[in-house]
Amino acid sequence: MSETIFTKIINKEIPADILYEDEISLAFKDINPQAPMHFLVIPKKAIATINDIERQDCEVVGHLSWVAAKILKEHGLAEQGYRTVMNCNEYGGQTVYHIHLHVLAGKPLGWPPYSAKLKIE
Ligand code: AMP
Repeated sequence: MSETIFTKIINKEIPADILYEDEISLAFKDINPQAPMHFLVIPKKAIATINDIERQDCEVVGHLSWVAAKILKEHGLAEQGYRTVMNCNEYGGQTVYHIHLHVLAGKPLGWPPYSAKLKIE
């Protein structure tokens, strides 16, 4: 799989507003926030999409949700509620092909998400 901008963030080759890091994962603020609190939790292992998760990755993927809740609790945002989203491929709106858990908090969030217009040729 080709390297993404998230590999560069993991390797500290480009800056990010890091909230949490351990041997498995990294959490940092989204550069284009869609809520008062919007951060991404990524595995250090480069997995391109949800479709590429293998059985042995399940613990790593579950770890991302644990990190999300840990950060939200520390910021006093867990009890009021929040949303986690992992987009997959074109219809899911994925733009960076290194899986990442979006975590959106700090305001009431609408549901369902809107349809997007895709340029299909
Ligand atoms: P997705 O569209 O689900 O693949 O989400 C990719 C997310 O990565 C978007 O919300 C972007 O705003 C975010 N993003 C892209 N580059 C950076 C960066 N350098 N630092 C932080 N967030 C980024």
